[in-house]
Amino acid sequence: MWLGKGKHFLSFPVRSGELINYVGFVPADAEMKESWSAPGDPDVLSREFDGWDPRIGMLLSEVDKTFRWALYDREPLPIWTRGRLTLLGDAAHPMLPHLGQGANQSIEDGMALATILARATRANVPAALLAYERLRRERVAAVQRGARENGMRYDSSYADLGVRDAEISAHAAFRRRLYDHDVVPEAQAAAISLG
Ligand SMILES: Cc1cc2nc3c(=O)[nH]c(=O)nc-3n(C[C@H](O)[C@H](O)[C@H](O)COP(=O)(O)OP(=O)(O)OC[C@H]3O[C@@H](n4cnc5c(N)ncnc54)[C@H](O)[C@@H]3O)c2cc1C
Repeated sequence: MWLGKGKHFLSFPVRSGELINYVGFVPADAEMKESWSAPGDPDVLSREFDGWDPRIGMLLSEVDKTFRWALYDREPLPIWTRGRLTLLGDAAHPMLPHLGQGANQSIEDGMALATILARATRANVPAALLAYERLRRERVAAVQRGARENGMRYDSSYADLGVRDAEISAHAAFRRRLYDHDVVPEAQAAAISLG
């Protein structure tokens, strides 16, 4: 990962090193239509990182087709559930990508919901959905806020970059809470407390 003022560039190998995944984050003032597959211009992308580490230039010189996404941020929702309806995944907690957690949190939601509903009866489904929401909402809100804060670190939005660097070094504890979390035992306990 390369971090600059208002921009950052991320790359890592995938498919056992056969391919390199990359993302360049740059500011934009134009509104973009909501799409995961809008075409981008590799030359424009390359120009955004002119003068950066030559390895970025080398990587981008191999790119002949690219995509563009707009990043929009939202505050955590105050409720997810009404009656027999609830939300999960991005519908419940759209988040910036700076922790790589959108899909992970959606999968945790799915495990929690399935575990709780497995013990629910037709009559107590609304209570079961509320139990699911109670279990998930605060954790995911912390991840949403954490993704926003991490984006500010990666885009160097700090008067003192030493503070930013210290925060990145100290991030291991937060990462552990993200990666070591097992949602199933908690969901089983929540399901049992439904009676
Ligand atoms: C570029 C990029 C990189 C990402 N990288 C990561 C990463 O490294 N790690 C990570 O954890 N997450 C990552 N994410 C986020 C992750 O992809 C999302 O958080 C995840 O896909 C959300 O899953 P979801 O099922 O909630 O929503 P979606 O994947 O959006 O699925 C919703 C589905 O519902 C369908 N749909 C919509 N409306 C209707 C309708 N009316 N009727 C029927 N179907 C409908 C849509 O077509 C879609 O298939 C990334 C996202 C992007 C865009």
